[in-house]
Amino acid sequence: MTDPILLTPGPLTTRIETRRAMLRDWGSRDPAFIALTAELRARLLAVAQGGATHACVPLQGSGTFIVEATLATLLRPGDKLLVLANGAYGERIAAITRRMGRAVEVLRWPEDRPVEPGRVAAALAADPGLTHVALVHCETTTGLLNPLAEVAAVVAAAGRRLLLDAMSSFGAIGIDLRSLPVTAVMASSNKCLEGVPGIGFALIERTVLAAAEGVSPSVSLDLHAQWRGLEKDGQWRFTPPVQVVAALVEALRLLEAEGGPPARLARYAENCRTLLAGMRRLGFSLYLEDALQAPIIATFRMPEARPLRFAEFYDALAARGFLIYPGKLTQAETFRIGCIGAIGRRDMERLLAAVEAVLGEMATA
Ligand SMILES: *Cc1c(COP(=O)(O)O)cnc(C)c1O
Repeated sequence: MTDPILLTPGPLTTRIETRRAMLRDWGSRDPAFIALTAELRARLLAVAQGGATHACVPLQGSGTFIVEATLATLLRPGDKLLVLANGAYGERIAAITRRMGRAVEVLRWPEDRPVEPGRVAAALAADPGLTHVALVHCETTTGLLNPLAEVAAVVAAAGRRLLLDAMSSFGAIGIDLRSLPVTAVMASSNKCLEGVPGIGFALIERTVLAAAEGVSPSVSLDLHAQWRGLEKDGQWRFTPPVQVVAALVEALRLLEAEGGPPARLARYAENCRTLLAGMRRLGFSLYLEDALQAPIIATFRMPEARPLRFAEFYDALAARGFLIYPGKLTQAETFRIGCIGAIGRRDMERLLAAVEAVLGEMATA
């Protein structure tokens, strides 16, 4: 049996070279693994041109762990975070901050509307107590792309610090830290970088990170301490997921060989165009306006004329080798199909043929 194609926001379909890189036992204190960690950190910084200004701090765990760790490390008692929320991941940032006992304010938009820089500027002007702003670059809840450059400019003009959840965009949608004023970029191994799950990482302005000693109320999520450890002897403080590191380094080499983020974005954009055109032909409509859709993951409405039960639709596609993703919306009956991972236009065309066959089957059932 061949492996299914994962049309999800991650974990997703990876290349065989990436999975093969895991077929080895690495000693976590051995020079070979120390060199691998150094290559990992340098390559992650290079993806966002952050080498001159930022430090890369990897952390064991999923993406949420690095979000929590970054907030814990950078938000001091007395600081106040403004979260810009138009989906579940913005709300998660607010929930984490609240649980940590740090002050947080949430500015909300509907799930199908982008963050508006003008409202952000007004909120920052109205409350001088706000010190940091959190933005989700691509809201994976819907697949909406928020206006990063415009929001970053507004936050910088107001003299505040921007924390960016770039979990589902990093590696594909360009983030250039030489020109973009962002204090911290957070992402993980298993989305557009096409690695396997198990590592989150933050690229943090070095001056800010250096001043964050003892801020984190957590030992294992303290990114200042994690960074100091890595700088001291190149080693992780606690057991690193060695195979995940090896896979991510291989995935980063493959990203470079592909042509970097611009080439990856072009491939994902072609996947997305193929998917959207085909799904529309089959009677599905896109949840978002086209202009707001990032080529990462697309949310489709269930057809009103012929509402499908998601579980049946999922099982029928899974039986044909394609794993899709449930919707995450509070308001509408939807499902999602990812455009990212080691997949191309031909895979999307095969998926569309499978969707068409399933629809035919369900119509005659
Ligand atoms: C995937 C994702 C996360 C982290 O989710 P995990 O399940 O913890 O990996 C955070 N923010 C966004 C925007 C994401 O897409």
